Amino acid sequence: EHLFQAPIFARWFSTESTLSKEELTPTDEKGFKGHDMLAPFTAGWQSTDFHPLVIEKSEGCYVYDNNGKKYLDSLAGLWCTALGGSEQRLVAAATTQLSILPFYHSFWNRTTKPSLDLAKELLDTFTARKMGKVFFTNSGSEANDSQVKLVWYYNNALGRPDKKKIIARNKSYHGSTLIAASLSGLPALHQKFDLPVPFVLHTECPHYWRFHLPGETEEEFSTRLANNLENLILKEGPETIAAFIAEPVMGAGGVIPPPATYFDKIQDVVKKYDILFIADEVICAFGRLGTMFGCDKYNIKPDLVSIAKALSSAYMPIGAVLVSPEIAEVINSQSDKLGSFSHGFTYSGHPVACAVALEAIKIYKERNIVEQVQKISPRFQDGVKAFSNSPIIGEIRGTGLILGTEFTDNKSPTDFFPPEWGVGVYFGAECEKRGMLVRVAGDNIMMSPPFIISPQEIDQLISIYGEALRATEKRVA
Ligand code: PLP
Repeated sequence: EHLFQAPIFARWFSTESTLSKEELTPTDEKGFKGHDMLAPFTAGWQSTDFHPLVIEKSEGCYVYDNNGKKYLDSLAGLWCTALGGSEQRLVAAATTQLSILPFYHSFWNRTTKPSLDLAKELLDTFTARKMGKVFFTNSGSEANDSQVKLVWYYNNALGRPDKKKIIARNKSYHGSTLIAASLSGLPALHQKFDLPVPFVLHTECPHYWRFHLPGETEEEFSTRLANNLENLILKEGPETIAAFIAEPVMGAGGVIPPPATYFDKIQDVVKKYDILFIADEVICAFGRLGTMFGCDKYNIKPDLVSIAKALSSAYMPIGAVLVSPEIAEVINSQSDKLGSFSHGFTYSGHPVACAVALEAIKIYKERNIVEQVQKISPRFQDGVKAFSNSPIIGEIRGTGLILGTEFTDNKSPTDFFPPEWGVGVYFGAECEKRGMLVRVAGDNIMMSPPFIISPQEIDQLISIYGEALRATEKRVA
């Protein structure tokens, strides 16, 4: 009765295939089936039953598949197309730069104007504290990998070769390269990859609803987590702990905003033991939370910051690390001794990506995107949270334009539905059927629409969410 039998993770109950029969036939005599891509975070790609959703076109907050079906893209791609899918100024910025200088690198004291301009712009835009330098990457994962190398280089320069361990948090997501996946606190990223690497430690996830003790207030919960972090540091030896990394609001782990006073208390602890604070702003930056950066919202004074995604509104791959003046100074003095700071990517500071990012930031500022998110987000938050009393919803949580729904039984954080019921998957399929794409991870549903979403589009999102929820409730009852 309850077995929804979700055969594969991604394209569950859809009746139509988006690929032709020929495209789905076996491709070689060894029996390899399905499509040719080893697709990221995908199961079932080898099966002929697997029908990927092929997206062909975008327009504002909508995308179209190869059958012309239109979907409201409630996750903005992967939490990233902040300006939607048809911002012509970004297209013009890219094509203009492509026609002038499609590529030059930034190695050996050579560089390009867009990368210099973007570095300056980022230092001006990040005001939670003064930052000193910017290092460019192609992605959020590369940014977080670079963070660890920067921190190690810094501690080596200071003559502290033992201060190398990094503390991250359970349920965090920091990317999927070796180190970024290690930092992430999601078992799926570790299993069968021999991860995490031994120098990464994980502390508790600050999810109040799930983990608070009976009668414990949010503040008390935060105090307990900060104390546990301090105990972990003391157990390991503060002289071995280099940095602590956190997303201001956890994203892919299920959208988990911090409980009251959490970051105040955590920052006190890491400061006490001379541990650097890395803010992973890959999702939160540029307005997602109704502030320019997540650090502004939670009064975080980081030593290092990772950004990507909305940096270019995802029109070009680009990420960056913002480095405090103190760390930049130490790195500079060390590289003076060694001859060079030998870390970087061919495409670090790619001029086309930088030109697009410069234009994206210009648009965020000209259009007061932060105020726009502040204005529209109550409609989104209140509209979806109005479904909180559904018997199959445990919690709906979020802030600004980011929102997570967790399905559980009896409104309890511990009464999970059997995974084989595929409740989240079913809800996702019901949304898709009605023309909306959401992120499904187990029984967690996540949404983070483009910053430009209109009131009418929010209403459509809420209406599809409501219909999909009613259908899922019926199926579970
Ligand atoms: N950090 C956070 C908070 C993220 O959400 C992500 C991606 O979702 C990453 C890092 C990794 O970024 P990328 O996929 O660009 O490597």
